[in-house]
Amino acid sequence: MLELAFLSLAPAAGLLAAYPRRVSGAVFAAAVALAGSAAAFVLYAPGDRPLALGVGLWSVAGSLYAIHLSRRELREHGHVRDKVAQLRARRVDTAKAVAEARSRSEETQRNHKESTALYAMVKGLSAAISWDEIKPRLEAAVDQYLGVSGFALYVAGMRGEDDFQPLAGRNLAGSPGSAWATLGRRLQEAALSPWQAHILDRPEKALCVPVLDNAELLGVLYLRLPDAADPRALLGKASAFAGEVAFAFRRVKLFQEMERLSQIDGLTGVHRRGSFDERLRDETVRSRTFKTTFCLLILDIDHFKSLNDRYGHPFGDQVLRRIGEVLNHSFYETDFVARYGGEEFAVILPRAQYDGARRKAEAVRTAIESESFAIALDTVRVTVSIGVAHFPRDAATPEELVSQADQALYRAKSLGRNRVVEFTR
Ligand code: GH3
Ligand code: MG
Ligand code: MG
Repeated sequence: MLELAFLSLAPAAGLLAAYPRRVSGAVFAAAVALAGSAAAFVLYAPGDRPLALGVGLWSVAGSLYAIHLSRRELREHGHVRDKVAQLRARRVDTAKAVAEARSRSEETQRNHKESTALYAMVKGLSAAISWDEIKPRLEAAVDQYLGVSGFALYVAGMRGEDDFQPLAGRNLAGSPGSAWATLGRRLQEAALSPWQAHILDRPEKALCVPVLDNAELLGVLYLRLPDAADPRALLGKASAFAGEVAFAFRRVKLFQEMERLSQIDGLTGVHRRGSFDERLRDETVRSRTFKTTFCLLILDIDHFKSLNDRYGHPFGDQVLRRIGEVLNHSFYETDFVARYGGEEFAVILPRAQYDGARRKAEAVRTAIESESFAIALDTVRVTVSIGVAHFPRDAATPEELVSQADQALYRAKSLGRNRVVEFTR
């Protein structure tokens, strides 16, 4: 009978063995209960068999129930586990999304900062109409937009020469980019064209970017790369930057040309009276400061009024135009030729010696005398009278110098015209 008591504990043992979710434990208990019940049924006397059958049924049914409970527990737990895993996965997804959004917002901020810097640069550069104005704006833009500290910008033909002049730059000590001579040589040695952008590795990591206007090379930008920089990314930005710089260069050149043209007399192609007055003042200051001399010629066309009266004003204009050309070709670049009045010209000859200036005036007089102008069937010749005065020999101020040269001119006229007369007291 003790065995039956043990057998009746099978469901409890099944539950215990299965706890918390071990189905195999409950299955084992059920198998033991079934085997135990079958054995009891067979081994017991027929009178005891109903009891053995009852206990057996109880223990088997209880064990099966234990299996059911442990399976349900397992299923539910699996469910919960899945849920937890799902939640955990979702949390990872959310964290990823947050990180992505943050990096996207950082990128947006970075882009915004870059756009702002680019805008500031474009605005700054677009307001510049001289090289002096471009320089500080350029330095600020390289700093803020490109984030590069070592750089140089060379300008082609800034003062009319063929080679490159430094416009702006800094922090390039010991770098080939510190002078055009070394940078030009470096490019030449590596057979690299300054018309194209290059990433340089030796002797330092750097970018060399052309400033191009169509196919015209206006300048070259040299950037020493910071260690952390991505050369390709920076090259893209530097090229965009060079495009803006080209725009600014073109505008400065245009303004220079406009300024030059505004100082030039439209008919004769020599400087206007206003520029002459300014230049004369400058020249007297320079002469006093450096203890040098200069010479002033005033030149007046002889009998020009009668020429106008006889052949008409347009013919007079033609003569004036030609005389402007002769004068422009007769003097050095450093001399200064201007239209002083209607048919009067003035020429400043810096550092001219007395006899040198006289010879030059004489040569110009002869050159104009030998010009001939055709009108209808006539050939007309024109002569000029020239007055000469020296600073500081003949005058102490610009006004006095003009007056002395005028006096000399007046003497040339009264002596019969077509001659050069030097001022004498
Ligand atoms: P002189 O030998 O004494 O200098 O005689 P002149 O006839 O040249 O005398 P004056 O200097 O007084 O005459 C200047 C003339 O130049 C008067 C004016 O008709 C003429 N003139 C001034 N400006 C122009 C111009 O732009 N075009 C033309 N065609 N004539 C001009
Ligand atoms: Mg005159
Ligand atoms: Mg005259």
